[in-house]
Amino acid sequence: MKFYDAHNHLQDDRFAGGQSELLAACEKVGIARMVVNGTRESDWPVVRALARENKTVLPSFGCHPWYLAERTPDWLKNLQKFLDEIPSAVGEIGLDRWQPDLPYAGQEEAFLAQLRIAAERNLPVSIHCLQAWGRMLELLQKNPRTARGFVLHSFGGPVAMIPAFAQLGAYFSFPGYFLHERKLRQREIFKQVPLDYLLLETDAPDQHLPEDKNCFPLVSTAGKPLNHPANLVAVYSGLAEFLGEKMEPLAARVEENFRRIFGGI
Ligand SMILES: [Zn+2]
Repeated sequence: MKFYDAHNHLQDDRFAGGQSELLAACEKVGIARMVVNGTRESDWPVVRALARENKTVLPSFGCHPWYLAERTPDWLKNLQKFLDEIPSAVGEIGLDRWQPDLPYAGQEEAFLAQLRIAAERNLPVSIHCLQAWGRMLELLQKNPRTARGFVLHSFGGPVAMIPAFAQLGAYFSFPGYFLHERKLRQREIFKQVPLDYLLLETDAPDQHLPEDKNCFPLVSTAGKPLNHPANLVAVYSGLAEFLGEKMEPLAARVEENFRRIFGGI
């Protein structure tokens, strides 16, 4: 069986240079590909280097709404330069009205500028959206989108909006964090996601799994728990169990979906 991580941040500083070991563990459990999402200009070179050295890594370049303040005046030119070099994917980009003290002003403009670049190049897009679902749908409906489609990562939006998003080319990605008992509402949402548009993710090093499902315990140098990207297999098995699906056919479906949006290996 092959597994595909639709969203992680392997470049994250908290992994403290342990990426080769993490990747070796991922390959051992059958992870064929992972979309490694850049979040700001300063981490794009790290994402690019990881992709050059490891065929498992599919690099994605974008400015996450949490880090817009760090942009240089040339950020869009810089983004285009990275995409000229490796035309792979755009993300993580998005809208966030949940994070306290994060200004919303300017988020839509930055999101749309990056969405436009992806549309022009027909590249897949990875989208972060917290407490801005109505506006997200509206912006996607009114603006040029990439024909390849886009991933709504850790989808926690209203069930009623699933058909409208799917019509625009959305894929819905399930994180291991939703396997926590208290996240039943978020898990239930995935019973309504069409299987042809389902993806799974770790979002490593964030969104840790429940203790009993955490097969690869990991802590940062500061002693904080980290989500290991090889936990992806546990995310698959947890979701398969919840949906009442067998693991193998589910993995085959997800592989098809992943290849459709991100391209074959
Ligand atoms: Zn992320």
